[in-house]
Amino acid sequence: DDVDGDAKTYLVATDTTFAPFEFTNDAGEFVGIDVDILAAIAADQGFTYELNSLGFDAAVAALESNQADAVIAGMSITPTRQEDYDFTDSYYQSSVCCAVKEGSDVKGLEDLAGQKVAGKTGTQSLDWAESIKDQYGFEITYFDTSDMMYQDVQTGNSMACFEDTPVMEYGVAQGNGLQIIAKEEDEFASPYGLAVMKGKNGELIEMFNAGLANIKESGEYDEILAKYLEA
Ligand code: GLN
Repeated sequence: DDVDGDAKTYLVATDTTFAPFEFTNDAGEFVGIDVDILAAIAADQGFTYELNSLGFDAAVAALESNQADAVIAGMSITPTRQEDYDFTDSYYQSSVCCAVKEGSDVKGLEDLAGQKVAGKTGTQSLDWAESIKDQYGFEITYFDTSDMMYQDVQTGNSMACFEDTPVMEYGVAQGNGLQIIAKEEDEFASPYGLAVMKGKNGELIEMFNAGLANIKESGEYDEILAKYLEA
């Protein structure tokens, strides 16, 4: 801790396009559930931070290489990740899904035999895809961002993509031209939390948890969710 009493500015890394958790709105502002929750908690707890939109895999890499103090990016709390990172309490429950172009002949995972599908590097939904690719006989192409993955399905290059369910449901509702054909809500379902390297920035975890409890209590947390999910 700083001897001169200057408060630390936490460097927080996030994804680029992962609506409704982080994205750039029509007004060109970087917004979303993660963005608003972090702002509300920081205001409640009185800490300062700088949010850097890097991409999911890049955000985790920045954390690992000490270039970020924390990641908030719709990041799944998993037992494997808990070996390397400390997570805050969860602020959202998620699952994974598979989506195709609207009206596609691919109606279920069994129709993906011999097809190319799109996955996002470093994610839970990719882990699900990897775990079933031999069973269904598809081949995975890797993308760094969700929007590039969707584009590959929209153009017909990939027949399907794998994504977190709340993110795909939001995208479908916004007219991304895709439709969900399968969901995995058991083994690959997970809660989202903010992550730090194990044993580091423990005070940030404590402040986040205390602030999260406060904004749940005050109703601000519900307002943030409603703003993005009930629009
Ligand atoms: N929830 C997923 C994970 O943590 C995806 C996160 C993301 O793409 N921003 O792996």
